Amino acid sequence: MTGSTREIGWGIAQALAKEGVQVIFHGLGEAEELERQRRTLAESSGVNVGLHQADISQAADVARLVEDTQRAMGGLDILVNNAGIQHVSPVEDFPAERWDAIQGINLNASFHTARAAIPEMKRRGWGRILNIASAHGLVASPFKSAYVAAKHGQVGLTKTIALELAETGITCNAICPGYVQTALVDAQIESQAQAHSLPREKVIRDIILAAQPTKRFVGVEEIAALVIFLCGDHARSITGAAIPIDGGWTAR
Ligand code: NAD
Repeated sequence: MTGSTREIGWGIAQALAKEGVQVIFHGLGEAEELERQRRTLAESSGVNVGLHQADISQAADVARLVEDTQRAMGGLDILVNNAGIQHVSPVEDFPAERWDAIQGINLNASFHTARAAIPEMKRRGWGRILNIASAHGLVASPFKSAYVAAKHGQVGLTKTIALELAETGITCNAICPGYVQTALVDAQIESQAQAHSLPREKVIRDIILAAQPTKRFVGVEEIAALVIFLCGDHARSITGAAIPIDGGWTAR
């Protein structure tokens, strides 16, 4: 499970562990803090939890992450590609290095993990590949060219993998959340409220959630619950789907 150290990834990792799934807890951060978090998850869930800190902007490190996971856990049945980054800028000013980093982490890493994990899943005749894309995998917003391109690419990759693996017992789906209230979004609310001298509630409703008809953030636990469902046997016919969980955003 890539990018599981905080926010959406942490919520999914906790939900999987609660269901008795052994988890490789992965992401960037301070080693001691991550080890503390790993231990907390292992103790609270009672399952085996490993820690990996591969930088998934590097293809070789992604391959190592999958190999180490298979060795540590004796296999890899569920792959969740969650790690992602964002940069906001008009196209003509968009730093080329940020474009490359976003494609590398948000799109290429999902290819490299799947490529490395599929042979073992095929041998076992069962697997679940879940790509945490975004509503921006289905529709665009201005100033987010790299993110929108990468997330649309991730949805295309999801469909292709699903078709290639359709008869193998392995499903591949993309989850497309709208806005989730993470620390990053919280900081945006504060800065917009100060910049425009507006109450927090107005910033949330009219600026941050302008495109989200429910005017409510998507909860991390809602995304985690969908992951758990898609990992179950009742979801075995759901493959190649890009499932919005976006408060109606992409219904417009
Ligand atoms: P976050 O920034 O809180 O966490 C990202 C995770 O990815 C962290 O664990 C981080 O360590 C890891 N990561 C980033 N770069 C990495 C690298 N080079 N190597 C290894 N790990 C790396 O993100 P979040 O807001 O929880 O979002 C998680 C996913 O959900 C992302 O793919 C994001 O695009 C998607 N998403 C988020 C929202 C939202 O509103 N927050 C909405 C839709 C989709």
